[in-house]
Amino acid sequence: MRNILQAMFGKRSVVVSSPTAVRATLPMFPFAAQPEDAYPGQVSSAEPLQGVCPVCGMPCSFERFTENLRESGFCSSCGSFNRQRQLAHVLRRQCGLRAAGAMVFPQDFVIYNTESNGAMHTQLSVASGYLCSEYFGEEYERGQDVDGRRHEDLQNLSFGDASIDLVLSSDVLEHMPDPYRAHSEIFRVLRPGGRHIFTVPFNAQAAHDDIRAKFVDGQIVYLADKQFHGDPVRPDEGILVWTIFGLEMLVRLADIGFQPFAWNLFQPDEGIVGSYSLVFEARKA
Ligand SMILES: [Zn+2]
Repeated sequence: MRNILQAMFGKRSVVVSSPTAVRATLPMFPFAAQPEDAYPGQVSSAEPLQGVCPVCGMPCSFERFTENLRESGFCSSCGSFNRQRQLAHVLRRQCGLRAAGAMVFPQDFVIYNTESNGAMHTQLSVASGYLCSEYFGEEYERGQDVDGRRHEDLQNLSFGDASIDLVLSSDVLEHMPDPYRAHSEIFRVLRPGGRHIFTVPFNAQAAHDDIRAKFVDGQIVYLADKQFHGDPVRPDEGILVWTIFGLEMLVRLADIGFQPFAWNLFQPDEGIVGSYSLVFEARKA
């Protein structure tokens, strides 16, 4: 695993001052110029991989990969799919956990997971400092219990300042009108030294974010074709994609005060394959 931004800029810390500056570095950006088939990551759906799952830490096989590589290849032990394992790989690595076995955190370590279902949730829910939520709709109060689950709006969190060590989000930030307000909120609730490890739909060849919808006078205005992603909380309708992120995201994270990092993973022995295994980390110094 290597930090792509370090690959771009050597040992200097992140130097992303503006989208224009980022655009100038695009030819150096390892995942920008890489043709799809240059990666050895294409797997046949008929071929399970063997290895150790970074989510559950167990030896297992990764089965039933489909064309949607990010969301398939299920762990025979915990049911995790590729994208969840990408997040878990970076989490274990950056939080200094062992690569195998259960994830064990210090007693006072506070984790906030922005979803309350799925393989990661199941593994993390035994940790003493574990918090999780869902977004149920604007009619609920932040922090409110909704049928046994906590409601939170990432753009307006109920948590106190500097109260959390680790925030996790996996394809969540694209589903809100103001993702940078959410990043600012996450910055506020993180303790110094804390981190937000996350995935989002990301176009490394785009300098700017692709804003697909926005609020104008309380109404949603669509600037591009409507896209919806599957959502366990809304299985029938799905959830709207407001933003596909570009390199601008890294600049804006730095503007908020984060140190941004980007990891492009390829770990077939952990069930992490494909040409698009990007995990981001926003660190609060
Ligand atoms: Zn597993």
